Amino acid sequence: CGIIGCVGRGDETLDTLVHGLSKLEYRGYDSAGVAMADDSIDICKASGEISDLKTALESARLSGSVGIGHTRWSTHGPPTDGNAHPHQDCHGDVAVVHNGIIENYQTLRDELVAAGHTFTSDTDTEVIPHLIEDELDAGRDPENAVRAALARLEGSYAAAVVVAGTEAVFAARNDSPLVLGLTEDATFLASDVPAFRDFTDQVVYLADGEFARLESAGWTVTDLDGNLVEKEVDTVQWDP
Ligand code: GLU
Repeated sequence: CGIIGCVGRGDETLDTLVHGLSKLEYRGYDSAGVAMADDSIDICKASGEISDLKTALESARLSGSVGIGHTRWSTHGPPTDGNAHPHQDCHGDVAVVHNGIIENYQTLRDELVAAGHTFTSDTDTEVIPHLIEDELDAGRDPENAVRAALARLEGSYAAAVVVAGTEAVFAARNDSPLVLGLTEDATFLASDVPAFRDFTDQVVYLADGEFARLESAGWTVTDLDGNLVEKEVDTVQWDP
């Protein structure tokens, strides 16, 4: 039920993600996980509390300067380690976190399975990385692959995506909150401001149907067709 993402935090990436997740605990959850990307993607996730994720992280090795994290409130599939987010494609070069419910996931899953994809969880979410994989395999660049995959979803979602070899976080929302946090050398993304309020008070609220690309020194918001959307930067008033 919570999403955090960041680009440009260097060695602080993992700490930033875990800090953000602990600030989102108030939203309720039954599992948590993180993914970090450089040329490959590393994932650590666990059912239970953030403290259980921290224990799992003690023996995990994650590297990368872009990352996403998630607290899950199960809707499709029990709260197991395997159903915790992030979820991946077959090749392992895409990782996705998602809040909400994908209404047409069964149709998409049947189609993907018929095309040879293997699923490893019970979640509705797992269709997203597999759809992105197909778009990448069809030759689209990562940004357009993610956009094309998200355009196929019906239902409510806030989703954040990392792709191996791409120094960016991609995100989009439909009926589920997402806000960007801006600094000069890092960009954040979260379900709610407290997740990154210790680092910035400069925010951009995403609206339904908007897609964001976050990089360390910049960000863009487009619609799902790729048309640029002009966004206002707000200053949040409350203290961290
Ligand atoms: N529907 C997804 C799942 O059950 C996401 C739930 C959430 O919003 O955390 O995994």
